[in-house]
Amino acid sequence: MTSLIHEFLKPGINKGLFYGGRFQKPHTSAVIEVLNPATAEAFTTVPNATVSDVKAAVTSARSAFGGWSELDPLDRSRHLHAFAHVLRSNMSSLALLETTITGRSIREMNAQMARIPEWLEYFASIAIGLEGESNVVKGGYVTVTHYEPLGPVALLTPWNHPILILVKKLAAALAAGNTCVIKPSELAPVSPLVLAALATEAGLPDGVVNVITGGPATGAALCAADDIHYIDLTGGTSTGRKVASLAGERLIRTTMELGGKTPVIICEDADIEAAVAGTLFAAFVASGQTCVSGARFLVHDKIYDSFVEGIAERTEQITIGDPMDKTTQMGPLISQKSKDRCLRMIAQAKVDGAKMIAGAGPLNLHNDFYNGFYIRPTVFKDVETHHELFLEEVFGPVVSVTRFYSDHEAVEMANTGTFGLGVSIWSRDIARAHRLSLKVRGGVVWLNDHHRNDPRSVWGGVRDSGFGKENGWDALRAYLTKKSVIVRTAAGHDDWFKGVGRYG
Ligand code: NAD
Repeated sequence: MTSLIHEFLKPGINKGLFYGGRFQKPHTSAVIEVLNPATAEAFTTVPNATVSDVKAAVTSARSAFGGWSELDPLDRSRHLHAFAHVLRSNMSSLALLETTITGRSIREMNAQMARIPEWLEYFASIAIGLEGESNVVKGGYVTVTHYEPLGPVALLTPWNHPILILVKKLAAALAAGNTCVIKPSELAPVSPLVLAALATEAGLPDGVVNVITGGPATGAALCAADDIHYIDLTGGTSTGRKVASLAGERLIRTTMELGGKTPVIICEDADIEAAVAGTLFAAFVASGQTCVSGARFLVHDKIYDSFVEGIAERTEQITIGDPMDKTTQMGPLISQKSKDRCLRMIAQAKVDGAKMIAGAGPLNLHNDFYNGFYIRPTVFKDVETHHELFLEEVFGPVVSVTRFYSDHEAVEMANTGTFGLGVSIWSRDIARAHRLSLKVRGGVVWLNDHHRNDPRSVWGGVRDSGFGKENGWDALRAYLTKKSVIVRTAAGHDDWFKGVGRYG
């Protein structure tokens, strides 16, 4: 199979959509161009799937559902372990593919890819332990409950971690016995197509994992498809509102993993060196393009100046360049649109009166990367809580630093705005850090670290960051419905309408 990945690593390979266990010719000649963000050059194309393509993929998922859902959980588990094994064997080629399409540095993608099979192994394992209950209930009955999968489900994914986010969802959905139709981001659709082919290579039955490519219209057609029974979206908050509204009309459940504006609270008793190193990671991994990017640093007055000095110095030292070079620490942004948004927000921060202490906006590297979507990692200090940079998601390497004087003020600042996804708190006093963690709004809080993710650590936001969970038992149960079977054990039978009633 590595040969398939190598084929996709060559420019211009378009093998169509993936459903029914193989690549399929789409019902359209329309394509979406996929760029290499490091050079801004066209890399390949994928089909811009139509409603007919969506229907064909959903039909394929429906045909596979009976067989897959009726497998013994142990057999499904074996399939998922085999899938994990195939991913692990193809890890370095998958990392190359991810770097080519997303511009994320190869050292990041190698590190991330190494952990991805764990999601399949985790859900393959816990699904075996999924047990119903039984209760003896009043009147001579025994109630037996058991879990059932939902049917074909839709997975809508973003471009920033094309495989990681997809596998988080896919592993839970499949372990629960559902079949899936995936609609990856139009900006990074290639590795999900490859992933589906790897699932087939691992022996998963045809039609269990299907991928259609296209933009928002294709995603909307998938959400509207009659035989889709759950929608799991990771994307922007405005997309979340649209998809959740559609799901509401259809009365189907959803998970919404949406945007964020993650505060990083640095107390005066923090280990400054660790905090600066950790906050650089929080801010600039993936070029600041993660939902939990440390975006606004709240720093205690007593250490404000030394922190600002440290982060400014270290930010200027970040090595930016060819994402395929193992020494590159930061690659480009995903698109010109993202770059323009960052530059616009940098300009606005200056107008608002914040002081830029690191970075200088756009960056034109020499040679092949001159046109790539690069900007310098940028830090503003003295950002105020009403500034756009404090409130709006940048989704790029542009961060703010704001001074606080008390824990109460830090919490007020952290809770400013509409998001509620990640928060990190840095303090040597673990009791204090824990107290703060209870007061900040968010779904994932790290103490003295940032960004850490594990199949066992539940992940998800509140308010404008969405609802529902990835990871853990919560994610598995979201993909199931619980059925109650009530068994009469009392002797004899009832006859409620006994008698000889008459009308008139
Ligand atoms: P996006 O909302 O533009 O797209 C996400 C997916 O939804 C894509 O596949 C897209 O084609 C599809 N889509 C867009 N409009 C649609 C519609 N009307 N109907 C159906 N599908 C539609 O997001 P993006 O730019 O790919 O990703 C960046 C966003 O994702 C950021 O806001 C980021 O914070 C968020 N994100 C959140 C998490 C999390 O765990 N909470 C993780 C990663 C990214």
